[in-house]
Amino acid sequence: MSRFAPAPTGYLHLGHVVSCLYVFGLTRALGGQVLVRIEDHDRTRARPEFDEAIREDLAWLGLIPDRSPWKGLGEFDPALRQSHRADVHAARLADLARGGLVYRCDCPRSSMTPGNDGELFHQGYCQSRKIPDDVPHGLRIPMPDRDITFHDLIAGPQSQNPFRQTGDLLARDRHGCFTYHFSCAVDDLDQGVNLVIRGRDLLASTGRQLALRELLSAPGSPVFCHHDLLVDETGRKLGKRFLSTSIRKMRLDGGTPESILGLAAFLARKTQHQGPLDLPSALDSFMR
Ligand code: GLU
Repeated sequence: MSRFAPAPTGYLHLGHVVSCLYVFGLTRALGGQVLVRIEDHDRTRARPEFDEAIREDLAWLGLIPDRSPWKGLGEFDPALRQSHRADVHAARLADLARGGLVYRCDCPRSSMTPGNDGELFHQGYCQSRKIPDDVPHGLRIPMPDRDITFHDLIAGPQSQNPFRQTGDLLARDRHGCFTYHFSCAVDDLDQGVNLVIRGRDLLASTGRQLALRELLSAPGSPVFCHHDLLVDETGRKLGKRFLSTSIRKMRLDGGTPESILGLAAFLARKTQHQGPLDLPSALDSFMR
């Protein structure tokens, strides 16, 4: 079981289409199934109109998952929308808290230092503080200071030390929203995801998600496959101008599913010439 897990904080763009073609292409080639999970854990940024637009754009492109949080697009499962699982996420965090694996933190982002890859680093100093109930606080999980190794199908052997990367992991923020890492690790586990295909920008997150799985007593870990992000002809990551052009806008400008799939395959260096591609050919190009 694999998944495509967009956050409904904007419209789908070509980078998402490339990710989908990897997910659907590789998973179906392996005989697996694909679920779509709407990652609306951040209630301050998720918007229902983007959620609905993701459904429409996927259907328009012909990318029909096996399971989704929408009626009429694969098997309907409302739990594939993270906001429907807040109780489950809270229960999992409470279990960890009972085991002494969660502590309160009221550090503002501005007090934290950026770690090696620019992400904020939390030393763990709140662990020994006793933050009272009435002080707004987030909840953190101590991360192991040891190497976690895994083999990525595209990026090869990896070794990551979650504590050295970002320190202790924020599982729930001070507004009560569960974070991406926590909800993603819980959901991948509960939803039986054993193949994670996503962009290379999330490769560095994998060690801490594996550390969380260990704490959640997960049996085994998924296979990971972090694909390249879209780049321009000089090899630089595609700029905002390209990625801010939504599939929706391309549709309004006369784009067809075939022209968009063809452009995605071409920009991902899966075809040598730019031109329209039907879905089977586009998926086929991502299996090579
Ligand atoms: N929700 C994340 C995003 O939209 C993707 C998460 C994942 O695939 O693990 O970037």
